[in-house]
Amino acid sequence: MPHPKEERTLVIIKPDGIQRSLVGEIIKRYEQIGLKLVAMKMLVPTAEHIEKHYTLDPEWRRITGEKTIKGYKDKGLTPPTEDPLEVTGILLERLKKYMTAGPVVAMVLEGAHAVKIVRKLTGGTEPLTSDVGTIRGDYVLDSYQMTDADGRSIRNLVHASGSVDEARQEIPHWFSKGELMEYRHIAEEILYN
Ligand code: ADP
Ligand code: MG
Repeated sequence: MPHPKEERTLVIIKPDGIQRSLVGEIIKRYEQIGLKLVAMKMLVPTAEHIEKHYTLDPEWRRITGEKTIKGYKDKGLTPPTEDPLEVTGILLERLKKYMTAGPVVAMVLEGAHAVKIVRKLTGGTEPLTSDVGTIRGDYVLDSYQMTDADGRSIRNLVHASGSVDEARQEIPHWFSKGELMEYRHIAEEILYN
């Protein structure tokens, strides 16, 4: 078992994050809390790469579909279909269009509770309802109401692994072993020793 301070998570600054010139601002927030950058690159992902990324977990299609249907019902709205897999099919097509629209910046961050800390700083999926002080809450104003009306994916600037398991699957999908840096950061002395 690796030590908790060695936990790693994947962050992708999505095409809207690049176009809004928020790369520095976003990385700054993850750096300032004390996480260590261990990998980073810029690329235009293919649709196949994005589909694989979101379906690494075989349960993702069902869970996401059910979550989305529940979201509609909670708001008193009728979902486009009652079939969770069909709902996810629509979402996935929209996600592929969004995530391949231009370059993204992918990175791996390491540190104690990296997955949870990054999710906390990132904020909830829908920018309209994500907390003030989070990246998605502070820098973008999209909502499900907007994306439903326009038939597109929600623009929320970043992807962040949702769990330690998700991170374990996602990191090798984006980075080869040789791209992951092993080095000692001087801040580790203050944070952990
Ligand atoms: P998160 O990125 O917060 O982990 P999910 O894994 O549930 O969220 O969904 C992946 C991405 O798909 C989201 O970041 C968002 O861009 C998009 N998305 C998810 N649900 C919806 C939805 N109901 N409508 C539009 N886009 C969505
Ligand atoms: Mg997710």
